[in-house]
Amino acid sequence: MDWMSNNDVTINKLVFTKFLTKDAIQARVEELAKELKNKYENHNPIFVILLNGAFVFASDLLRQFDESAETLFLKVSSYHDLESTGNVTFDKNFLSPLSGRSVILIEDIIDTGNTMVALLKELKTIGVKEVALCTLLLKPNKLKHNFEVQHVGFSIADEFVVGYGLDYNEQGRNLRDIYQLKSQ
Ligand code: 5GP
Ligand code: MG
Repeated sequence: MDWMSNNDVTINKLVFTKFLTKDAIQARVEELAKELKNKYENHNPIFVILLNGAFVFASDLLRQFDESAETLFLKVSSYHDLESTGNVTFDKNFLSPLSGRSVILIEDIIDTGNTMVALLKELKTIGVKEVALCTLLLKPNKLKHNFEVQHVGFSIADEFVVGYGLDYNEQGRNLRDIYQLKSQ
C-alpha cells in the first residue's frame, strides 16, 4: 500500500499520523459496552447509529451489547472537507419510532456539538422516554453548546482525525487505527 508508510497515511496530499491504535480502541469499546449493559439491560433501548461515520464503532460496540435492543440508522450530515458547516441535515420522518423509548445516540465524534444539539431538540419534540449520548471521540475545546455526554471513549485535542469510520472526503474510513492530521 503506497498510501501508507510506517505510522503515516497520506490522503489527498495531507499526511496523517497514527494516534489511537486498534488495540487501544478495542479495549475502550469493550469498556463502553459494559457501561451500556449495566445501565440498559432489560430496557430494550434503541441505538440510533449516526451515519456515515459511526458505522464501524457501532458494529463493534453493539456486538458486545448482548441484551435485547433495536437499531435505527440515521443519515446526518454537517461536515465538509476539514470543517463543520454548522448546517445539520437529517430526515425527521425517520425518528418517529423513537417516541416513548430509551434512546442511545451512537456517534463517531462530537466536535462543535451542532449535530447533537439539533438531534436532541428534535427528540424532545417527539417525546422520548430518555436519551443518552455515546461517542467514541469528543473534542472538548471545540464544543459550542452545553449538554451532557454520558459515554465518551476518548477526549482528544482539536486536530482533524480519520480512520475507524471517520473520513477525509470519504477516504480513510476503512483504516483500523485512528490517525491525526500532522501539523504542516
Ligand atoms: P459537530 O456537529 O459536533 O460539529 O460535528 C459532528 C460531525 O462532524 C461528526 O459526526 C463527524 O462526522 C464530523 N467530524 C468532526 N470532527 C471530525 C474529525 O476530526 N474528523 C472527521 N473525519 N470528522 C469529523
Ligand atoms: Mg458523524
